[in-house]
Amino acid sequence: MSKTQDFINDEEIMDLLEKGKGAEKSEIREIFAKSKEKNRLEPAETAKLLQINDEDLLEEMFSLARQIKEDVYGNRIVFFAPLYIGNNCINNCLYCGFRRDNKSIVRKTLTMEELRDEVIALENSGQKRLILVYGEHPMYDADFIVETIKTTYETKTGNGEIRRVNINAAPMDVEGYRKLKEAGIGTFQIFQETYHHETYAKIHPKGDMKSDYQWRLYGLDRALEAGIDDVGIGALFGLYDWKFEVMGLLYHTIHLEKTFGGIGPHTISFPRLEPAIDTPFIQETKYKVSDDDFKKLVAIIRLSVPYTGMILTARESPEVRRQVIPLGVSQIDAGSRIGIGGYAEAAKGYIPEKEQFHLGDIRSLDEVVREICSFGCIPSFCTAGYRAGRTGDHFMSLAKPGFVHNYCMPNAVLTFKEYLLDYASEETRKVGEAAIQKQLEAFEKESPERRKYVEDKLKLIEQGQRD
Ligand code: SAM
Ligand code: SF4
Repeated sequence: MSKTQDFINDEEIMDLLEKGKGAEKSEIREIFAKSKEKNRLEPAETAKLLQINDEDLLEEMFSLARQIKEDVYGNRIVFFAPLYIGNNCINNCLYCGFRRDNKSIVRKTLTMEELRDEVIALENSGQKRLILVYGEHPMYDADFIVETIKTTYETKTGNGEIRRVNINAAPMDVEGYRKLKEAGIGTFQIFQETYHHETYAKIHPKGDMKSDYQWRLYGLDRALEAGIDDVGIGALFGLYDWKFEVMGLLYHTIHLEKTFGGIGPHTISFPRLEPAIDTPFIQETKYKVSDDDFKKLVAIIRLSVPYTGMILTARESPEVRRQVIPLGVSQIDAGSRIGIGGYAEAAKGYIPEKEQFHLGDIRSLDEVVREICSFGCIPSFCTAGYRAGRTGDHFMSLAKPGFVHNYCMPNAVLTFKEYLLDYASEETRKVGEAAIQKQLEAFEKESPERRKYVEDKLKLIEQGQRD
């Protein structure tokens, strides 16, 4: 058994999962009641949810997950896109197409000019929020990342601009994070990949930068110490037992809350392992997560941390996304390309094949936006919360009691209107306008003043005003 000197105790997690088996229905319903009140669960409680097999209880759990999502986040879904900056990597993570021994991919780093082309292509499709993604390499140090953040913010086209830049890169030291904070970074995201120490050691070869489990585990502590407001955690599902990983995500959340005065992670990601070129590990793993288990894990995360944002990526197929989004997801990407230079290439009609892994959903942003409306949701390109200082602890104080949608729903409608006018296809505009009308009626029920406030703003947007 592995020895741990951190807040993830493998034995304790195994033990709780074992004890969680066969809980009485009444016990499970008490846990549901706690989640319904938007209280974060304790590990022993989440362990019990992870062991539910009873069909009726599972149905109850799914419907509660939908309700909590609605209460905390309203019916808006925030859209973003990943932008891959460079795939050079000094690590050899067994599961990743970018690992240094993979000779089948072409190594490339965007120049600032190429980055501008990518940003323009993204702005032309209506994107407002990006996450920049980097391999781990000395080339991609804090100064380089700062340059890419600045270039992204500075690249503007007509009504197009990127309003929030998030980062997914290797963990840094406090000094490095400070530079990113100054450049106006949104969220810094690090996935622990697996919280299971022994598995972590097996899939991250000794001697690699990434083999240091604790440097990575405390990577977001350093980001918060450096003053970055929002951090995102995640696990790569398929490397080890999915139940263990959900427990790991919960322990990580609790650790951040305890260490930083109640601020937990801004978002949780739960990517599933996808096939990648010349990466046989992926076919060999015995921990592949089925679609049914995936649905369970999303609902259980929603119940365990009711106020934390949840990100579902285009790794998943359209069919899976349709089923899983209502269970608690607050952010999705769409129109995504993960080849280096993929957006400018796609605009010319070429779809790159040799990427970090294969994407499950390659539909356009327009198409996904249209579908999201047909679910009765409002796509949001909103970043007003961040500019109004609704980040970090302030965000949490709003999110916890379920107020976010009172502030964010009007903003979602307004940024969606901008999208419809500036970028949507005829068909999407029709569906989108109908969704806005429905939302105005919902505002009316809450308060006629709110409807009027939003309608007045919508008129200004129609006259050409932008956020
Ligand atoms: N290189 C940095 C790192 O490893 O933290 C950041 C970027 S890495 C490209 C982003 C994430 O991609 C990783 O944290 C991992 O979870 C995910 N990833 C790697 N291989 C994957 C695969 N085959 N399928 C799905 N996701 C994968
Ligand atoms: Fe490199 Fe990150 Fe891929 Fe590991 S997951 S090989 S560090 S890009």
